[in-house]
Amino acid sequence: MKRSRSPRDLWASLLPAAGGALALAIAWRVPALTAGGPMPAWLLVILLVSGIAAACHRPAVGIASLGLGTLVLPAAFRLSGVAWAAAMAAGLLLAVELALRIVHRLAALQPAERRGFLPRSLEGSGRAALATLGAGGAWLGLAGRWSPEPALAVVAAVYLLLWTGLEIADRKIRRPEAPLQIWKILVPLSLDAGGWIAGGVILLAGDRAGWPFAVFLTACFAGLAVETTRHGLLHRKAQDRARDLERLRRASRRMTTPLEEMASIADRIHTECEKVLESDKSRLFWFQFEALAPGSEFRSWWWGPDSEVLEEGVPEPDRYPPKLPGFHRRTQWQILERLLRARPDATALARIRLWCDPRRLDPKKIELLDSLLPQMTASVQRCLLDREAREDPLTGVAMRRVLEKRLHEVHTRCCETGAAMAVLLCDLDHFKRINDTWGHPAGDAALVAVAGVLKGMRRAEDLCCRYGGEEFVLLMEGTNGEDGLAIAERLRQAIEALDFQVEGQRVLLTLSAGVASFPDLYIKTGAELILFADEALYEAKRRGRNRCLLDIGQGRYMDVEGDVLTTEEAAPAAAAPRIFV
Ligand code: GH3
Ligand code: MG
Ligand code: MG
Repeated sequence: MKRSRSPRDLWASLLPAAGGALALAIAWRVPALTAGGPMPAWLLVILLVSGIAAACHRPAVGIASLGLGTLVLPAAFRLSGVAWAAAMAAGLLLAVELALRIVHRLAALQPAERRGFLPRSLEGSGRAALATLGAGGAWLGLAGRWSPEPALAVVAAVYLLLWTGLEIADRKIRRPEAPLQIWKILVPLSLDAGGWIAGGVILLAGDRAGWPFAVFLTACFAGLAVETTRHGLLHRKAQDRARDLERLRRASRRMTTPLEEMASIADRIHTECEKVLESDKSRLFWFQFEALAPGSEFRSWWWGPDSEVLEEGVPEPDRYPPKLPGFHRRTQWQILERLLRARPDATALARIRLWCDPRRLDPKKIELLDSLLPQMTASVQRCLLDREAREDPLTGVAMRRVLEKRLHEVHTRCCETGAAMAVLLCDLDHFKRINDTWGHPAGDAALVAVAGVLKGMRRAEDLCCRYGGEEFVLLMEGTNGEDGLAIAERLRQAIEALDFQVEGQRVLLTLSAGVASFPDLYIKTGAELILFADEALYEAKRRGRNRCLLDIGQGRYMDVEGDVLTTEEAAPAAAAPRIFV
């Protein structure tokens, strides 16, 4: 049951209170109802009124409750034998309601799937009516045995405890993660007490000053209550709007923080869509993000009820939404589809598809989602532009300027943490011959093939970059020189084994690599490591190519066998280049 938080709603709670008092004032004047003896009927009225007021911080719910309460109580009043039974039945129903909530919680049902035995629209008034019935019945039963005042005190205390307990349980079960703010429960209960007192005052005044005065007083309260309800509702609308704007502002800020990877953008868009659509009523069941940008490869990520993280591919949702408690009709998914375009007439950059239960979709949430689309578009667009500026169009590996920036970052980090870093610089052997023999397209294809091997070998955190024409660099954080040399050797072997064909003929590709690492070598900036690796590469070329060397400083190099070589040694005679197999 939702309760208002605005103090203005105090008056709103008096409307049904006053109405309830008036209804019972009329009932009290009916001789049949008081024939059983002197009844402090106003005490009973106060009980009734408090029950109604408990439910009426929302006027529609309060009025429904008022109707139920006034129908039920006079009957119980007359038939006090039935009252106990009614009280027990009401208590039982409340207990069932509470048990259902606990079961929902244990079954980890989503808020939209949790349903009590009362329809949601009647939930507040239903619970209030049941509590009122229970309290009234209990009081009637006790008042027959004890004197009415202590009976009232006991029933009122139990009543208040019951409501407080139910509220606490409700909040704990519905939102276990939210801290329990006891004032949020006590404020509405004190509003109930306000309604309670007002009802009593009206009846007392009516009793002393006469019936017309009671009607007059009630009318005054009612007028005030209508006015403040109106204000309260307007106030709440304004609050909702402010909350939506704030949510939008925060989401926009999150969406416009730059991200490099399209997968992370998809993930962020998914989180925002889920946040926007998730409410008591609606919920996102499946999500798909497709990057449609021209020129870049087509990719799709999806998320479904059983996914923990975004998965790559195209989702295969069930044909129908899950059957939720309380709904027997089965309609097909409502799929919200949104294209992200940089300009309305431009080709789409990406597409978002959201699978929702059509019975629960809240139009306000869709509006909110739509207002986030420009930020999502900007995010995708920036990522694509960045990528264009970062990636070498031929091979798809990073460009040299990315390496320079990353070298600086990694070096700074390694200086702070004492971790190692290694740089591998490789150059294809006699590459000019391939160009000269088969033309540039064949040379390009060879570069793409080599880059493919490099990309396949690197770890996710390594940076692979095209350093120059047919020179590539692998930057490996957390790798020392010897490991770097072993990786270079694996790469050399993989390139040598590569089945690269031109015009149906296998062409042998080989490469030479130089490796340098920090802190084995003293360097002031990350870029210096490239110079050392270049020296090692030069030495590898000088020593006949198709080999890898690690620069260990002072003109000394180590090969894969662990032998230390120096520049002074005469270079072995270069073998004649072999390019056919
Ligand atoms: P070495 O073993 O000494 O490295 O011999 P090499 O022939 O590979 O000599 P070098 O590294 O100096 O040659 C680089 C050649 O790579 C020159 C150029 O024609 C070619 N090249 C550079 N960029 C590209 C490119 O994008 N595509 C093609 N097809 N060739 C390129
Ligand atoms: Mg070369
Ligand atoms: Mg070269």
